[in-house]
Amino acid sequence: MIYPWQQLQWQKVQQQQIAGKLPHALLMLGPQGLGKLDFALHLAHGLLCNVPNDQGSACGECAACKLIAVDTHPDLFILQAEERGKAIKVDDVRELSRKLNLTSQYGGYKLAIIVDAHDMNINASNSLLKTLEEPPSETLLILVSSNPQKLPITVRSRCQAIMFKPPDTQSALSWLQSQGTQQADALLNLAHGAPLLALEFQQNDLLDHHKQLISALLGVAKNQPVIEQAEQLHKLPLNYMLNWLFDWVQDLIKLHQCGDSVQLVHIKQQSELKQLAARSSLQGLYDYLDQLVKNKQLQSIPLNTQLLWEDLLLSWYKILKRV
Ligand SMILES: [Zn+2]
Repeated sequence: MIYPWQQLQWQKVQQQQIAGKLPHALLMLGPQGLGKLDFALHLAHGLLCNVPNDQGSACGECAACKLIAVDTHPDLFILQAEERGKAIKVDDVRELSRKLNLTSQYGGYKLAIIVDAHDMNINASNSLLKTLEEPPSETLLILVSSNPQKLPITVRSRCQAIMFKPPDTQSALSWLQSQGTQQADALLNLAHGAPLLALEFQQNDLLDHHKQLISALLGVAKNQPVIEQAEQLHKLPLNYMLNWLFDWVQDLIKLHQCGDSVQLVHIKQQSELKQLAARSSLQGLYDYLDQLVKNKQLQSIPLNTQLLWEDLLLSWYKILKRV
């Protein structure tokens, strides 16, 4: 699917294709929640379809499209980590390269999409580099990444970058409303302007989880027991919770550095945040942010989340001056 905010990127790729100038490797980069993978799949399907339409989109009905629909097209390879947060391994990249070096089964393009390409470990990246340096003919590698700085520069520099950015707020809100989204404003703010992430928040009732986090943080600030608050939080999805806590602390740092004029993620809690900023020091907030970054990196390891939340909430309690 091509979303309204992806039209320019789509036109550019189509012009390249019509001119016979598609590169061997594309890197689709930009924040999470903008539909980069959907774009990559749409492009791949269009290239494999026997009779794509004038806009380069797949027909959905030909023999190739029918294979795509049941995930069995022999010239389309999708590589991703076994689990979210785990690494993409070198053996899997080698196997992908081997397949790309075989002749196309249908006599057309061979397509490989590497989902969250930044999850490749260093050996996997090095192995991919060989394929990027000597790409087989009629092959397109599409790397998708919301964290491209984690990719080695040698890999990045061999791909043509396609950048995705959040649409302007009004367009994003109209699109969300057209999807039947309630509270689009709050969701979009929390998703840093990325419409699909906002939609994901709504579909999984994540606003309620977010409210629980805020209520726990404000509770601890009012001297409520850390252990009780941690009990409320530890069963909630850790990945989202840590990202929101990160945003919360960044909002406090922004208030310290820029004062009232700053655009906050937690705009509804502005007055509470101002009081909390007055009770905290910039250094304390930065130290807390470091602690959060470390915890975010540890997420793939099984953790005792009750202890993790006790630890995080206790540190939060300690950076606030008592009133
Ligand atoms: Zn087709």
